[in-house]
Amino acid sequence: MATIYQNFIDGKWVDASSGEVFENRNPANWDEVIGIFPKSSKEDVDAAVRAAREEFKTWRLVPAPVRGEIMKAAGDLMVARKEELAHLMTREMGKVLEETRGDVQEGIDTAYYAFGESRRLFAHTVPSELPNKFNMTMRMPIGVAGVITPWNFPMAIPSWKIFPALTCGNTVVFKPASDTPATATKLVEILLEAGVPPRAINLVHGTGNAVGIPIVEHPEVNLLSFTGSSAVGKSIAAIAGKSLKRVSLELGGKNAQIVMDDANLELALEGVLWGAFGTTGQRCTATSRLILHEKIYHKFLDMLVERTKALKLGNGLDETVEVGPVINSAQRQTIHQYVEIGQKEGASLLLGGEFAEDGDLKKGFFYKPTIFVDVRPEMRIAREEIFGPVLCVLKVSSLDEAIKVLNDSVYGLSSSIYTQDINTAYKAIQNIEAGITYINGPTIGAECHMPFGGVKETGNGHREGGWAAYDFFTEIKTVYVDFSGRLQRAQIDNR
Ligand code: NAD
Repeated sequence: MATIYQNFIDGKWVDASSGEVFENRNPANWDEVIGIFPKSSKEDVDAAVRAAREEFKTWRLVPAPVRGEIMKAAGDLMVARKEELAHLMTREMGKVLEETRGDVQEGIDTAYYAFGESRRLFAHTVPSELPNKFNMTMRMPIGVAGVITPWNFPMAIPSWKIFPALTCGNTVVFKPASDTPATATKLVEILLEAGVPPRAINLVHGTGNAVGIPIVEHPEVNLLSFTGSSAVGKSIAAIAGKSLKRVSLELGGKNAQIVMDDANLELALEGVLWGAFGTTGQRCTATSRLILHEKIYHKFLDMLVERTKALKLGNGLDETVEVGPVINSAQRQTIHQYVEIGQKEGASLLLGGEFAEDGDLKKGFFYKPTIFVDVRPEMRIAREEIFGPVLCVLKVSSLDEAIKVLNDSVYGLSSSIYTQDINTAYKAIQNIEAGITYINGPTIGAECHMPFGGVKETGNGHREGGWAAYDFFTEIKTVYVDFSGRLQRAQIDNR
């Protein structure tokens, strides 16, 4: 019997008001139903926002360090349940266990960071230009935060948003991706058990159209934190722009790793294998382009093909498996269409390019790790986000050319360069157009206390992670205290 899950609205576990449901299945074994979830609609969103709005009146006044202690308690519960959560996540979205443990750990780290930050919500005190007057700024909670998340980091990404949102005194309406509703439910259970007031966190399951859009459009939702594709991000920005809602958009990427002729090739190889095929290439920071210096081009490709061929595909619960399935049938079809587009554009398929269906693999949505060579920067496969295990290799003859190729993208999330020359490294740091640059590390590997986000169409300038997230979830109030006992006019009485 499949587990029946519910929404959490106004302090109660409830079905969708329509009574409709949807199924969530294991992408490594489509026969396995993870759970049955409420298929919600605008009515459910309205109830959730009403509850969150009501609770905001109280939660905003709870001292931040007290809110922080609740985040710490949530972190402790996640530590205790790490293994259970990782297993559920692997069954729900396919990532191998080592990675789902990492995903939970990122949630734990974010909870503990929030605990620390709750005593550090720094603002400024500054001298006044007038005597007997005191100037300061304060960080104020904003209101109801709409949190809309993708499926590829089902614990980490909601944690990046919900922990700082609550710590800063906002209340939350959370819509997780419909491919990962079970992990999201566990996170909400943990927050409640840790002591978050029931109406401060509301969970509404369902699709982007039926639940996401009503959250975005709702006049009582004051801020939106969205992670997902650039196409959806743009539509959200357009709607939110009408009411001047504060919006944080963390969107797609087309990340590149450069390998220079002086690089430690073994290290660069480990980097690209992890960057391109970890999470089956389904990370916003996945290495989608490999830019090789011509002097090491053939040698590095030989090394890469040999190791990629040996990657073990399978169900992520098997600890020997290195690459899990892609998230669903439609996504596998999209990946395959890009492979066909690449071939039509004249790129050469060096490896993969087909469904993996040997033995048990046919129960799920597996795709063979794929490498294209003879890729030119203007090809669609070098420009569009594929979101799968497909690596496009481009050849260059200098650092300047490598950076030019890397920057030739509408996206600007993560980037990486392997070199042993410090001058080359610093030139890359200075000239690469990306929110994140790794030197001698792959394009993936964010730490929760560092700002995370990208430039260009990867976002709208906000950052998640670290202290930067706390800027998004608070509004600055400027306060003047005049203790002179008389009217003092700035710019006039002191001149
Ligand atoms: P998606 O944009 O399809 O969906 C993301 C979320 O938005 C889901 O919860 C979905 O139901 C909801 N949604 C869909 N349409 C909506 C609409 N019109 N209004 C409101 N909500 C809507 O993305 P996905 O397939 O779940 O995730 C993959 C994408 O996410 C990739 O583009 C990837 O690069 C990106 N991503 C970005 C980051 C980052 O931090 N920059 C991190 C992870 C994933």
